[in-house]
Amino acid sequence: FPDSVVSSQPETLTVMGGGLVGALAALYLARRNYPVEVYERRADPRQTGTTEGRSINLALSDRGWRALEGVGIGEQVRSVAIPMYQRVMHDQQGKLTYQPYGKENQAIYSVSRNGLNRVLLDLAEANPHISLAFNQQCQVVDLRNRQLVLRDTTTGQEQVRSFRHLFGADGAYSAVRSVLQKTDRFDYSQHYLNYGYKELTIEAGPGGAWQIEKNALHIWPRGQYMMIALPNLDGSFNCTLFFPYEGPQSFTALQTGPQVRAFFAEVFADALPLMSDLEEDFFRNPTSSLVTIRCFPWSLADEVLLLGDASHAIVPFYGQGMNAGFEDCTVLDELLDQHGTDWQTVFQEFQRQRKPNADAMADLAVYNFEEMRDRVADPRFLLRKKIESRISAQYPDQWMPLYTQVTFSHTPYAEAWANGQRQDQIMQRLMPHIQSEADYDLPTVQALVQQEMNNLANSQT
Ligand code: FAD
Repeated sequence: FPDSVVSSQPETLTVMGGGLVGALAALYLARRNYPVEVYERRADPRQTGTTEGRSINLALSDRGWRALEGVGIGEQVRSVAIPMYQRVMHDQQGKLTYQPYGKENQAIYSVSRNGLNRVLLDLAEANPHISLAFNQQCQVVDLRNRQLVLRDTTTGQEQVRSFRHLFGADGAYSAVRSVLQKTDRFDYSQHYLNYGYKELTIEAGPGGAWQIEKNALHIWPRGQYMMIALPNLDGSFNCTLFFPYEGPQSFTALQTGPQVRAFFAEVFADALPLMSDLEEDFFRNPTSSLVTIRCFPWSLADEVLLLGDASHAIVPFYGQGMNAGFEDCTVLDELLDQHGTDWQTVFQEFQRQRKPNADAMADLAVYNFEEMRDRVADPRFLLRKKIESRISAQYPDQWMPLYTQVTFSHTPYAEAWANGQRQDQIMQRLMPHIQSEADYDLPTVQALVQQEMNNLANSQT
């Protein structure tokens, strides 16, 4: 340890990580007039342009919006977000199928990760209670002495700082969590999918026009793999190919430009003419892994609390990782309202409430991968979705589709998942009696639906 320790003011709150969740958490904490210090390993993204020169977008939904509105930036973000009202599925022949996400006007929103991070950092910088330090990598957390070693990534110089309450918002490979991992009875697991992902681009058309439907999330489901695309403001789309690492159709099998082109010509034929930089993107952009991380406890006394991906990294197929991390901020704020400066109770209560929901969301995310890459291409599945929306329209108080509960409600994830599993069982019993949407109105089917609804109501009372 270097000799000199810089002491923070008493009751200073230290946030490790100035990414999406760290920056938002700092804004919430500073509202209570605590001095908040944020340390971020990377350079200030507002000065360096987009990470790795690429713009990557994320789907923001109701839980995320609520958290942003809580610090007064809902409108600002909305003005640069693109609503996606539906999934558009592209089959191998280029035929399109449309599936609305919810009721009319319900949408998930495509936002730029960097753009959103910059908005949050601007706001943090303007806040007199928050100090931001970039290029500061957390190297060591000394729990016993409540000290941190931070290394300046530009000069290599190290400094030691004391902390009183430390919030680990330093992402899936959290340095703060790695220290908790060495404490007694700390549970930890990480699970990688056999799939990786690669970011690709559909270019803007002439005059910045969107070359495929703008207000939609596009999916090319292909059974064991898939590509998705989300719109950008400049007319382009960010595509993500989710693809096995190994096997006959895999990243390993595509080693040359002509192989990539031939593969896309065969399986993503309608997208290929819109991806003029395909080979360059494919070999320049990294193949990244997909991990689920679970751990517990998320806190240590009144000293440390993990937030966002540091405590619950999930695979991206439900578009909820950031939303869940933002919801962490909302819940933390509510608990600070209830328990004031009793940090230990706040931390305990936070992990008690959030852990089951994070676990459920992790399961839901894996479940949705199967749905997106495989089931959405199945006509029976799409029929089932239509029947579900008929049931939901007929019994709005009793039946909210699972996707709606996760994306357009604030129902705790664990509750949504349990409801979804009950609904799944009902649909498995109903669907053998239904061959087309019109069958839903048959008296025999209506009688079955009525019976299921009665059973559901009884099981919930
Ligand atoms: P991060 O965004 O990882 O931020 C952590 C920050 O901590 C970083 O800035 C990092 O530089 C910094 N840091 C790390 N280590 C240190 C250290 N030692 N010292 C100091 N600083 C450190 N979520 C959605 O809601 N919707 C989506 O559509 C969506 N799509 C996704 C698509 C993909 C391909 C992936 C991979 C994820 C997606 N997610 C999505 C999930 C989302 O990206 C994460 O849940 C979110 O970024 C978590 O935010 P965070 O702040 O907790 O972590």
